[in-house]
Amino acid sequence: FFTADPLLKIKNEIYEIAAKKQLEIDELKQLQTLRSEFLADVSHELKTPIFAAQGFIHTLLDGAINDINVRDKFLQKAATSLDGLDTLVQDLISISQLENGVIKMQKRNFDVVPLVKEVFEQLEQKATSRQITLHLEAQPNQHINLHADPNRIRQVFINLIDNAIKYGRDGGNIWVSFSEGRKRYTITVADDGKGISEEHINRVFERFYRIDKSRARTEGGSGLGLSISKHIVEAHRSFIAITSTVGKGSTLRFKLPKAK
Ligand code: ADP
Repeated sequence: FFTADPLLKIKNEIYEIAAKKQLEIDELKQLQTLRSEFLADVSHELKTPIFAAQGFIHTLLDGAINDINVRDKFLQKAATSLDGLDTLVQDLISISQLENGVIKMQKRNFDVVPLVKEVFEQLEQKATSRQITLHLEAQPNQHINLHADPNRIRQVFINLIDNAIKYGRDGGNIWVSFSEGRKRYTITVADDGKGISEEHINRVFERFYRIDKSRARTEGGSGLGLSISKHIVEAHRSFIAITSTVGKGSTLRFKLPKAK
């Protein structure tokens, strides 16, 4: 029986190795499932605007083109679908580049106040069309100097403010504010819109996650805006969070390093 002990030891070691391998296999399988789910999601998302545009164009070719009112309406709808497709493809490229680390953050010192003003100007028409007021909570001549990638941070503001308009209420408000910490600023984008219920809130940063799929699509959303924003903030070694109350509004908060 003096051979029993070493045998048992070897047996246990084999079991351990097998268990480890099994874990690795499970992980690989999980990755593969995630990848094929992502591919299925992407195909579905691409198909939707393509089918829509196809539908309008074929209806026009089948004779609707002769009715001047229908013609303009359908051409407009086809164009909107194709614009949505364009946004989706751009967002997909951004997300894959961010995930693969192809995009390096071009960090430099800059004042974020004029950048937010620019984004306000860019989205003003969209906000006004719903009588939404954009507020910048900064003192005149106040500088909020950050050390970050201005172009990527612009993209984050566009995504967040665009969402605040899309899911805001007619006649509502959007506030952008800053609070200074020791090493970082906390930036807040808040709205008094429809809000998000508890069952959805933890999932809104996931790719393609939308609460109201059809509504978000007609608004031109790719379902990737928050996911992209999260990647960008994380690439600055920071984080973004959301709080919300249904019927009251949502608040997105993220931190960025102060200028060096
Ligand atoms: P989308 O392109 O659909 O806007 P996002 O990734 O930007 O995609 O957002 C994901 C989902 O989170 C949206 O479809 C919407 O349901 C919800 N959401 C995002 N921002 C807000 C907000 N400010 N208020 C309410 N719901 C929001």
